[in-house]
Amino acid sequence: MKNDVIIIGSGIGGMNAGMQLASKGYSVTILEKRSEPGGKMRRVSHGDCLFDAGPSLITMPFILRDAFAQTGAVLEDYLTLLPIDPICQYRWLDGKRYDCHANPLKRNEETEKAFGRTSMKEMNAYLAHAGKVYHATKDVFLFNPFDGFKEFFKRKNLPLLPALPSLKFSSKFHTFNAEYFTNPKLIQLFDRFATYNGSSPYLAPATLMVIPFIEFEYGGWYPKGGIYAIAEAFHKRCIELGVNFIFNADVKEIITEKKRVKGVQTHDGHVHEAKHVISNADVYHARHDLLRKTKEQKPELSTSGFVMLIPMHTNPFDMSHHTVFFSDAYEQEFKSIFKDKDSPEEMTVYISVSGKSDASQMSNDKENWFVLVNTPPTSGTTEWNEEKTARYKHSILTMIERFLPGMQSYIAEEPFIITPDDFSTEFHATGGSLYGSSSNSMFSAFLRPTNTDPHVQNLHHCGGSAHPGGGIPLVILSGQFAAQSVMAHS
Ligand SMILES: Cc1cc2nc3c(=O)[nH]c(=O)nc-3n(C[C@H](O)[C@H](O)[C@H](O)COP(=O)(O)OP(=O)(O)OC[C@H]3O[C@@H](n4cnc5c(N)ncnc54)[C@H](O)[C@@H]3O)c2cc1C
Repeated sequence: MKNDVIIIGSGIGGMNAGMQLASKGYSVTILEKRSEPGGKMRRVSHGDCLFDAGPSLITMPFILRDAFAQTGAVLEDYLTLLPIDPICQYRWLDGKRYDCHANPLKRNEETEKAFGRTSMKEMNAYLAHAGKVYHATKDVFLFNPFDGFKEFFKRKNLPLLPALPSLKFSSKFHTFNAEYFTNPKLIQLFDRFATYNGSSPYLAPATLMVIPFIEFEYGGWYPKGGIYAIAEAFHKRCIELGVNFIFNADVKEIITEKKRVKGVQTHDGHVHEAKHVISNADVYHARHDLLRKTKEQKPELSTSGFVMLIPMHTNPFDMSHHTVFFSDAYEQEFKSIFKDKDSPEEMTVYISVSGKSDASQMSNDKENWFVLVNTPPTSGTTEWNEEKTARYKHSILTMIERFLPGMQSYIAEEPFIITPDDFSTEFHATGGSLYGSSSNSMFSAFLRPTNTDPHVQNLHHCGGSAHPGGGIPLVILSGQFAAQSVMAHS
C-alpha cells in the first residue's frame, strides 16, 4: 500500500506530526529504529525504580494542550500535569542555596532572603525585559514556520523592527546577564539557561533571555507517572487516529527520483513508498546518511550528556525534585566543552529525583536519582571506553560528595550509565547531541534547517535539529510545522 506519509522516527516531534496528519485524514506510517516510541524521551527500570532517562522538566504546557486540541482531543484525558514547586533548587560550594519559584510573590520573597532586595529588583527588571522580547519575537521565531533571513523582509514581521535593539542579538548571553545582576551567583544561575538548548552562555546571544522568562512565567511541570507518560499519551492518540507504527525499522535510505521523494528503504531491504516523507531523525543524519549527501556540513552541535541513573537507599539529603550543584569554575566548564572538547575538571551536576513528586517512580526504600552533566558531543561512536566512563563517574560522584558528604554510601545499585556514544548510536543523534545544533551564534536561529526541505520535494523535517529547535515544547511545534508543510504541498 502506498502511504500518504512516512515518518522516520517516533520522537515526540514525529508523533505529533503523525497525529496532526492522521486527524486530517492522511494515512501515516511511522518507522522507528528502536522497539518503543518516544525517542530521547524514554523510561528505564533499574534497581526497583523507574527513571526518565531523557528530559526531566517540561515548560510551556499549553503547547502540549494545543497539540491535542488540534486533533480534536483534550490533553487532560491523556495526561495529568503537575506543577513543580520549587522548580529547582540551586546550590553552591560555599553552602548557599536558593529555591526558585514560578510564583512571583514566593520568588521575590526567596530572592530577597537569599540575595537581598537589590537582587530581587534586578531579577524583576530582567524578567520584564525578557518578557517583552519573548512577546515581540515568539510569533516569528517560535510559533510559525521560519524562512531564515527572508523572514525580516516579510510584511507580517514589520512590527518586530522597533523591538530589534532590545533583542540584543549581538551581545553574549553572559554579558547581558552580567549587566543586569550584581551578584555573581545570580549571573551564573541565569547563564545556566543556555544549557536548556545545549549552548554556552559565553558564546550564545542574549536573546536566550527568553528561556528563563518562559520557565518563570509558565512554570516547570511534571506528568503523573513520569515524563514518559507524555510519550505514551502521544502514542495513544496516534493509535486512536489510525497511525501505523513499525518498530525495529532502521531506515537506511530516503529514496528520491528527480529530486522528489518516493519513499524509504529500511536496513532489512523493505521499501515503503510514500507521497511525502517527514524525517524526525537528526537532519544531518537524514541528509548525510539517508540521502547520501556526503558533502553535507555538520553544524556546530549542542552539548551531549553523561547520565547516571542511581537507585539510592533512603537517605538524609532531603533532595528537591530538581537540584543543580554549581561548580566554581563555570566559564572554564564551557571552554572545556566547546573549545577544548574535553571533560572539565570541575563539573556542574544536575540531579532530578522525580520520586519526590511521584511515589510511583520509586520503591519504598529507594529513591530514583537521575544525574546529568553536560559533555562535548562525541567524535564518533566508540570514544567512551571503560576508562573514560569510569573517570567521569568518579569526578561526578566526587563533586556530589562535596555537597552531600557520605552520599556514595547510600548508593543501592551500580548506576545505569548512558554516555554520549550511547545517545549517538541509540538515536542516530549526530555526536550524541541532546538538542541538535547549538545556539552559540547570533545566526543560529536563521541557519537551523527549515521544516520544508529546500532541495528535495515532499521531504519535510521535524525534531530538535530542525526549526524551532530542541526541547519538548519546541519539537512538538516542529512536528506541527512539518505536518503543515505536508498539507501545503498536497
Ligand atoms: C538526557 C536528556 C535530557 C533532556 N532534558 C530535557 C528537559 O529537561 N526538557 C526538555 O524539554 N527537553 C530535554 N531534552 C531534549 C528532548 O528530550 C529532545 O529535544 C526531544 O525529546 C527530541 O525529540 P525529537 O522529536 O527531536 O525526536 P528524538 O527524541 O530525537 O527521536 C528521534 C527518533 O528517530 C529515530 N530514528 C533516527 N534515525 C532513524 C532511522 N534512520 N530510522 C528509523 N528511526 C530513526 C530515533 O531512534 C528516535 O526514536 C533532554 C534530552 C536528553 C537526552
